[in-house]
Amino acid sequence: MPKWITQVGCPYCGSSCDDIECLVSDDGKKILETRNACVIGNEIFHHVSSPDRPKRPRMRQPDGSMKEVTYDEAVDYTAKALIKAKKPLIYGFGSTNCEGMSAVARVAERAGAVLDNCASICHGPSFLAIFDNGYPSCTLGEVKNRADVVLFWGCNPMHAHPRHTSRYSIFPRGFFTTKGQMQRTIISIDPRETDTAKLADYHFMLNQGHDYELFDAFRTVLRGHDIPAEVAGCKREMILEAAEKMKNARFVMIFFGMGCTHTDGRNHNVDIAISLTRDLNTHTKASIMAMRGHYNIAGPGQVWSWQFGFPYCIDLSKGTRAHMNPGETSSVDLAMRDEVDCFVNVGTDAGAHWPIAAIKHVKKHPVITVDPNICMASEIADLHVPVRVVGVEEPGVVYRMDNVPIQFKKVIDGPEGVPSDEEFFDKVYTRMCELTQTEPIWVHVKEHAKASSSLEH
Ligand code: SF4
Repeated sequence: MPKWITQVGCPYCGSSCDDIECLVSDDGKKILETRNACVIGNEIFHHVSSPDRPKRPRMRQPDGSMKEVTYDEAVDYTAKALIKAKKPLIYGFGSTNCEGMSAVARVAERAGAVLDNCASICHGPSFLAIFDNGYPSCTLGEVKNRADVVLFWGCNPMHAHPRHTSRYSIFPRGFFTTKGQMQRTIISIDPRETDTAKLADYHFMLNQGHDYELFDAFRTVLRGHDIPAEVAGCKREMILEAAEKMKNARFVMIFFGMGCTHTDGRNHNVDIAISLTRDLNTHTKASIMAMRGHYNIAGPGQVWSWQFGFPYCIDLSKGTRAHMNPGETSSVDLAMRDEVDCFVNVGTDAGAHWPIAAIKHVKKHPVITVDPNICMASEIADLHVPVRVVGVEEPGVVYRMDNVPIQFKKVIDGPEGVPSDEEFFDKVYTRMCELTQTEPIWVHVKEHAKASSSLEH
């Protein structure tokens, strides 16, 4: 009999929904149906059983074709490429678990690599602003239970985080928001009339790239000063009215996205958004949150900050200390300056999402893609290593956009012989130690930890 598995986590967007239900076939190998997932999440669960999914590593041949190789050969190739490289770059991690990130960090440290995640092309500017100005944030549960004015600035959750509005930000009825949407004022700030803007009570259709001016106008009004008749294409009266709503709210929540981090000003847009949140706290309670993209893109920030003290753009090439300086040590900048001589793409698709000029530079050197699926990054790689899909075939810890950790489950068995990211990179680490005749410290530490936890039980 097929059986329903409940409280499953969805491995797609930063909402990291953990209320998915999956109907699993008798043999535990296929997902037949899902409940609660949005259309994107549903597709992820079904895609796992796609017959086109690769089950063995593939290595590029001298004639340009790809040939299947064993996992041992893939481990050996990866270890040798990393040892040989002077400045390898290991990048990605939006779509894997924290255990995988930690295993890759050990390999990166051993290789003297630069370790970076998708934040450097996404919410990296938000990190820079947070370093400068702090992060007066909260959890999504607090938004659900308390927020009565919600701003979506430069983000469109109806498309990018489809269940965000129903689980946390617009529709749910919370402890102090018992009337749900009826009790909330929604403000959308976006140059386009998005589906989120269509739901809003106020839509500021600002001139594209003029976010800083509009943030500044709100701050000016909140501090009791006057503003011009029009700012960033938005009318003074509307700004005054929305500012008044925010002042009189019980809890203001500001969500921001790529409209702030990818436009003129970048980190400065986020910086002033944080200052606006601080200003609002002199009138009422207010909080701010980055709409993190992937289900575990907050994970590397947590794991690597604990391991190295930095969340992204971590240069480990000095051997004895980590160094971080986005602009210098960020992936695309390194690639554009042609400073990378080996590129490892893990749980992301740099082939599709990087500028073509950066990809052309890394393509001059060995490119290794570790990813469950065929994607642009696998098609430009010299070695493609398929791994199990986290949240479906592999359990693990993920961090939601509000940095709340969630334990994702395994729902079905992965394809036979296919490892997890963690297993693959642990083998790469061990092989690197064999090749350089050094002590595999981390492997011993992990075995020791496993042995002591089994003794405790
Ligand atoms: S909103 Fe995001 S996490 Fe939730 S089901 Fe949809 S894709 Fe998955």
